Amino acid sequence: MKCNESQVLMMKFFDRNINDIEEALLKQHIRTCTKCSEEFLSLKEIFSEIEQDSAIEPPEDFELQVMSRIEKETVMYSKPTQQNDFVYNILLVAVSFIFVILFGGILWEAVKHPLALYQDVQIATEIAKEFLSAAVTMVKGIGIAVMGVTASLYKTYYYAYILLGILLLVIQGVFFRMVREGNGAAQ
Ligand SMILES: [Zn+2]
Repeated sequence: MKCNESQVLMMKFFDRNINDIEEALLKQHIRTCTKCSEEFLSLKEIFSEIEQDSAIEPPEDFELQVMSRIEKETVMYSKPTQQNDFVYNILLVAVSFIFVILFGGILWEAVKHPLALYQDVQIATEIAKEFLSAAVTMVKGIGIAVMGVTASLYKTYYYAYILLGILLLVIQGVFFRMVREGNGAAQ
């Protein structure tokens, strides 16, 4: 039997659609052919893994079990005990008390001295304004400082270029004079 025929039989084997004669032929070929035997073994491994995976199926009443479990848990957590109610009420009273102490005082002051509150707000506004203008001045100052440094650097380079130019002119002048004097001496 040729290898391509054995491939067809292998597929039939794993499809469980193989007759006894074909199976015998396939096993005989696998015994003599290394290539097909290796392929058969790797296919066998793959198919057995697939079978194992499909074997892990949830039980039929799985959904029912989960639902009843969820129901049980929900009932357990939603049923408040009397002790929980008591603690909850005490917490509510405590929070309300703290709220009244904190904000009641401020509200009472506002009602008693509306002008003082107005002044306080004005002072706060003034402070905020001053803070803002100080911040603007600071940013402006930084900007001016950066510009100044940049300008001075630029100026420094500018003067350096001028100096370099003058130096080149001087060197050129000296060089030309030397050449001229040399010529004069030669004549
Ligand atoms: Zn073969």
